[in-house]
Formats: sequence, C-alpha cells, structure tokens
Amino acid sequence: MTERGISKKPGDGVAISSIVTAFHCTRQYFFYSEMKSNPSEKYSICKHVSCADPDIKEEKLWDIICMIHPDISVEKRSFLKDCLNAVRHVPVRPWTDTDILVRSDRAGIYGLLDKYDATAEEYTLTRCTKAPQKGCWPEDAIRTAALLICLEDTCKKKPEGLYIEYIPSGIIRYYEPTPKDRRKVFQLINKVRDVNKGGIPKKPLNPPCSGCRFFDRCSQNEPRRLSFLFKK
Ligand code: SF4
Repeated sequence: MTERGISKKPGDGVAISSIVTAFHCTRQYFFYSEMKSNPSEKYSICKHVSCADPDIKEEKLWDIICMIHPDISVEKRSFLKDCLNAVRHVPVRPWTDTDILVRSDRAGIYGLLDKYDATAEEYTLTRCTKAPQKGCWPEDAIRTAALLICLEDTCKKKPEGLYIEYIPSGIIRYYEPTPKDRRKVFQLINKVRDVNKGGIPKKPLNPPCSGCRFFDRCSQNEPRRLSFLFKK
C-alpha cells in the first residue's frame, strides 16, 4: 500500500489509498490524481524492518533497500537505523503472507493489506508514521474500516479489527473501526468517484492547507465570488 500513491483503475473500483487521500482533503486528491505516484521510501523501509529476520544487520537491510530504490538518498539510512532501534525490544507482528490484495465488489473498493498471519488468522497494517498518544490516527481508522469492509466480503472468518504497527515508534495497536468510520468510508468513496468523473471539488470545511504542496495551484483555482464583478 502506497503512503500517498493514488491508484485509479476504472472498472476495478476505488483504491483505498485514494479514499485516505480524499479524507485529508478532496482537493488534494484531485491534484494528486493528476500526478504520477512514486512509492514512499519511508514506507518501503518500514516494510523491510517489519518483515526482516530479527537478527538482520542494518548494513544488509540497507543494501537490499538500495537495490529496490536505486535513487534513495543516504540520509534515509538514519531513518532505517531509528526504526531498527525502535523495534529492537518490541517483536513486530508475525506473518505468513505479505501484500495481500483485498477487495469488496459490493462497496467497489480495493487495497493491499501488509501482513497476514495464518496461524492466528490475524491481519496487520504497517505504518511509517509515529504512533499517536493512544489508539490510531484518524486516517488509519478510515484505512482499517475500508480494509475490513473488503475482508468481510472475502473471508470466512471476519476479523473485528486490525493490528497497526507504527514502526518508527516500535508500537503496535489494535483497532476496531466504529460505525462512524465505516460511514465516512462510504462518503469518501462517493467523493472520489465524483472527482474521477472530472472537475475540481470544493474546499472542505477545515482543509489542512498549512504546508500543503498544492497551496498555490489551489488558490488559483478558487471560484470567483460575485462580489469580484462589482469591485470598483
Ligand atoms: S491548499 Fe488546502 S484546500 Fe487546497 S488542496 Fe491543499 S489542503 Fe486542500
């Protein structure tokens, strides 16, 4: 699952990564959907830390990451070192399969789950962000709700929640989505579909504009107010 990547497969439904981007701001989703998405290097590092042999040396892991991301900057190695230190005394979640494609034809969504442990029949999401004080971040609640909707469509045993491993903090949380999270997923599916049909969406009520990379473009696309026409 890409950290910020937008995948649109017309006919295949809405990518859960798109739903999460639209959750931050529908306009951001609009701008991102016009761009080519690159996989997040931090996410890739966290994936490797999460799935690596516990005794693996930092150097060996860095070598592998460099082969996967030949253009990765050397500064990212300190992120790898911090992540390895963070999980040193906290065993990461067990797994028997990784990158499991899940989908719900009823909801028209699909996404990738990071880990599945066949022994306990449990699923895990791997995040490359630090953990919040308690619970999970709102975007992870939405992600979890969407993934569970997919699992409920395809699995015999329906899990009630997912484990979320916050690799940079070395913290693992378990989250069961609420009906409110699920409602939000369905609202966002409709918003993403509207954007995919074309047209720039309106700004949401409290958009996270501070530090947004699309700030200038977004301001240029402001709908003109009628008062503009009567300006002296
Ligand atoms: S500047 Fe604000 S409204 Fe515009 S895309 Fe960014 S977050 Fe959304």
